[in-house]
Amino acid sequence: DVSPAVVTVTGAAGSIGYASLFRIAAGAMLGHDRPVRLRLLELPAAVTAAEGTAMELEDGAFPLLESIDIFDDARTAFDGAQFGLLIGARPRTKGMERAELLAANSAIFAEQGRIINDVAAQDIRVIVVGNPANTNAAVAAANAPDVPGERFTALTRLDHNRAIAQLARRTGTPVGRISRVTIWGNHSASQYPDIFHARVGDTPGAEIAADERWLVEDFIPTVATRGTAIIEARGASSAASAANATIDHVHDWVLGTAGDDWTSVAMPSTGAYGIREGLVSSVPARAAGGRWEIVEGLDINDFSRARIDASVAELEGELDAVAKLSRA
Ligand code: NDP
Repeated sequence: DVSPAVVTVTGAAGSIGYASLFRIAAGAMLGHDRPVRLRLLELPAAVTAAEGTAMELEDGAFPLLESIDIFDDARTAFDGAQFGLLIGARPRTKGMERAELLAANSAIFAEQGRIINDVAAQDIRVIVVGNPANTNAAVAAANAPDVPGERFTALTRLDHNRAIAQLARRTGTPVGRISRVTIWGNHSASQYPDIFHARVGDTPGAEIAADERWLVEDFIPTVATRGTAIIEARGASSAASAANATIDHVHDWVLGTAGDDWTSVAMPSTGAYGIREGLVSSVPARAAGGRWEIVEGLDINDFSRARIDASVAELEGELDAVAKLSRA
């Protein structure tokens, strides 16, 4: 498909937005032959900053970039959108309770879900990056009854890429020779990076996982808390790597995953692997023909089961809290 793609990016003036837009304009997300029309949504207070980013995008003279429009109104921003990169979210501020954060974000994502339902293109594909990403995606999907649920996804590709990088570092294997890693559950510290089905060069991941001490005390916590380590080192949260993962996610969704490899995608559960329907949990997935398909039938050992269950329980807690708030 080389028709121009309409891409709406929320939180476009933020750090992840800034790091994403130039690569989208350069063709890294949808292919180097597909023109893009960018639609940037920002809060009124950040519209001027978004205008500055748009000026820089213009100055990139990207041959694939057909247009850039800036909005502070979601209904106009999502009109005809084929891709929704939902990056903007209410950050947790000092003294804010977790319930307040959930309430603020569920209101934003319920509204965006309704709007996407009403005005986006028939083939809209959504990726939620703004935290709590999985639950925000579940809320948006629940408010868009006319859009197939599988079109609402959340980002766990960054966790996936982090897991590959840690495996590469541990084993001295080039990242390109590592496949079939899985992130299960929530994009939070409870996530479970699973290497039991991975291939690390010619070595089965299960063989590497047999070093249980390294797995439990080093690999899993390093991947799960990498975001915090980056904040401590950089003095700011990860932005370019989050943007890179967002682009990888959409790229694979549209253009397909490579060979027999899979990636990790948080998408509404169909009940596979015993995950409650409606939760947006990360699972192993392949894309073909523009659709994600869960990789089913993997053997889940007791070690993995307990960790998947714990992260899914956290997702249940978040979604139940949101449901309670909306009844209150
Ligand atoms: P960033 O661009 O750094 O982050 C945006 C969101 O992505 C945050 O919710 C952040 O979560 C989340 N995120 C998910 N994964 C990661 C990751 N691995 N590393 C870092 N962040 C991750 O935030 P900024 O504050 O720079 O920009 C946000 C923009 O969104 C602002 O310009 C603001 O005006 C806009 N905004 C738009 C809204 C809307 O469109 N309705 C609502 C609120 C804000 P976390 O907070 O946990 O780091």
